[in-house]
Amino acid sequence: MARYTGPVCKVCRREGGKLFLKGQRCYTDKCAIVTRENPPGQHGQGRIRTSEYRIHLREKQKVRSTYGLSESQFKRYYEIARSQRGATGENLLVLLERRLDNIVYRSGFTTSRAEARQLIDHGHFRVNSRKTDIPSYLVKAGDVIEVKEKSKTLHAIVEALEIREQRGSAEWIEVDANARKATVKALPERKDLPMAVEERLIVEFYSK
Ligand code: SF4
Repeated sequence: MARYTGPVCKVCRREGGKLFLKGQRCYTDKCAIVTRENPPGQHGQGRIRTSEYRIHLREKQKVRSTYGLSESQFKRYYEIARSQRGATGENLLVLLERRLDNIVYRSGFTTSRAEARQLIDHGHFRVNSRKTDIPSYLVKAGDVIEVKEKSKTLHAIVEALEIREQRGSAEWIEVDANARKATVKALPERKDLPMAVEERLIVEFYSK
């Protein structure tokens, strides 16, 4: 299944919470989760039937949409997580967090992961001083992510940094906003990830 390209606020409304897919708007009162209570669609105001399958599916879709991945990409991360030591669900979340587009977003250089992907694609970032234009690049502890010299005053980056404080920061990433530089101090553990996700449900979804 390809990556979803429709109205992103509908995705948040379907999942019943903010997934922060639309950039600046997500941090304002104009957010559709704030202004519209019901799920999208003509049946949005009716009672939603919940089966066990639906609960598992929705949890998986919520995480997949948050990181902007296609089903096949997401499944691939799941398979890698399953082959690693430790709890598969936690491994999966850590893998997703290690994506370069996520680090750029979490560091506050962009207001959404989609925007981060676009800027990385266009070559505005360096990892350990090397140009890196692969949004799925998996960072390691100690990696240094920097905005390319010529891109430091890019409007999108300047604007994103203005609301960085309001968004809060990830403890495991050290950000020097003036230098446009982020250092991954350590890979995150589950407790470092502020997501309201029951990863167990995703593991159960794929285990069936
Ligand atoms: Fe989701 Fe952002 Fe739209 Fe709010 S504004 S519904 S958080 S994408």
